Amino acid sequence: MNNAQILKYAIDLIAVFLLALGIKGLSKVRSAREANRLAALAMGLAVIGVLINALGKDGISISAWIWIITGSTLGGLIGMATAKKVPMTAMPETVALFNGCGGMSSLLVATAVALFPETQSQSSPIVVGISIAISVFVGAITFSGSMVAMAKLQGWLSTPNWTQNKLRHALNIAFAVVCIVAAIKQFTEGKGNESLWLLIIGSSLLGIGVTLPIGGADMPVVISLLNSYSGVAAAAAGFVVGSQLLIVAGAMVGAAGLILTQVMCNGMNRSLISVLFGGSLATKSSTSANKSEYNNITSCSIEECALTLEAAERVVVVPGYGLAVAQAQHTLREVTRALEITGIDVTYAIHPVAGRMPGHMNVLLAEADVPYEQLKEMDVINPEFPATDVVLVLGANDVVNPQAKNDPSSPLYGMPVLDVQEARTVFVIKRGMSAGYSGIKNDLFELANTSMVFGDAKKVLGDLLVELKELGVGKKG
Ligand code: NDP
Repeated sequence: MNNAQILKYAIDLIAVFLLALGIKGLSKVRSAREANRLAALAMGLAVIGVLINALGKDGISISAWIWIITGSTLGGLIGMATAKKVPMTAMPETVALFNGCGGMSSLLVATAVALFPETQSQSSPIVVGISIAISVFVGAITFSGSMVAMAKLQGWLSTPNWTQNKLRHALNIAFAVVCIVAAIKQFTEGKGNESLWLLIIGSSLLGIGVTLPIGGADMPVVISLLNSYSGVAAAAAGFVVGSQLLIVAGAMVGAAGLILTQVMCNGMNRSLISVLFGGSLATKSSTSANKSEYNNITSCSIEECALTLEAAERVVVVPGYGLAVAQAQHTLREVTRALEITGIDVTYAIHPVAGRMPGHMNVLLAEADVPYEQLKEMDVINPEFPATDVVLVLGANDVVNPQAKNDPSSPLYGMPVLDVQEARTVFVIKRGMSAGYSGIKNDLFELANTSMVFGDAKKVLGDLLVELKELGVGKKG
């Protein structure tokens, strides 16, 4: 082992350690920012380790170095520019895109080694052969599936009707059979040829075929599952090129993604099987929301809302996707600060799938300096609603829909929701009667203790703050 290799192993060890610390830290909002930096540092070290190892090897041409440097600089710059520019509301699409890039990288690495077997690692040919097949298969599924997920979240793609009948299962089984046959042929033949291309095409079609029918509230689960796949593909690529770092890092991402998938499934009370093979929640719905479906809506003015808040002792805020769209978190914080100064107890009810990605609301509220102690998870806050005077539902919809508990025919049935209707008064702040992500009617809006306050969340909260101040709420002493 030469000095460059020893240095690379030392760097790899530090990188793995930092990555593990990073993943652990991401499980808490408080440590998430620091954890993200640690994980990014780990990735940076991993790249440096590979470059040092390459420097220690003879025979790497100048043109190869130009490719390496151009590729990493361009990739780094695109990643940085995208991450800086993307708004919080578009984060799930970005995560899907990055997952897809991870899958594509593993696919490309394995394909290159299959096409040029002289570049493969010194591991046993059986291990390398199996790893190439896994890396190509899972990498292609991750890439095509993530692209479909991104396009659906972005609103570029809707769920085609034909994907909701049994034909899709037959098609996916056919794609899977093609993949198995192509993978076995690729493995026995050893070198990349027609069967390799067939495996790439079959797996890509399978990724599209499995993701296309999924819609509505099941999207978070799919994204975290694809995240896990990208880790599995990377670990397999690690066996292909003999990189222990890639194997360990890929396995960690694969396992973390799988755990997150399980957490999301529990949060929505759905099994992974029903998410993957159950089709689109929205299109299955027999009760798609439509303005005319609501007969009993009570709306009220911002002034009335302010008066009720002024008289309250205990207020719970339910943030949802609309709050993020309106970028109203800072104005919300000003309103809650005013209430707190007056002695009103304010807490925030956080549903695990509120918004468009896991932890969306926590990140949004942390950005506005809402103290962590005031954030309460669903299981903790639900028993407290009967003792709550006012609930402010801000741009949330599906996560407060009582149909999930009361209507077995509802597509949301079984999803745990916030029991806001148990509170004395509920104000729902949203622009109109549009449905939430799942596309269905919300029975909460017709209940006797619910009043709608129509308008953009930021505008309504700004006006509410003015009204509260006029009532003397928020004045010290
Ligand atoms: P929903 O998507 O159910 O509802 C959001 C509501 O916000 C809409 O009804 C909309 O009504 C309102 N709204 C939009 N813009 C504004 C605005 N500017 N001001 C005020 N209101 C606005 O959100 P929830 O957070 O309740 O639920 C999340 C849903 O998304 C769940 O179904 C979940 O499963 C799904 N999902 C969650 C992911 C996650 O990981 N968290 C990922 C992907 C999907 P109107 O237009 O009338 O204003």
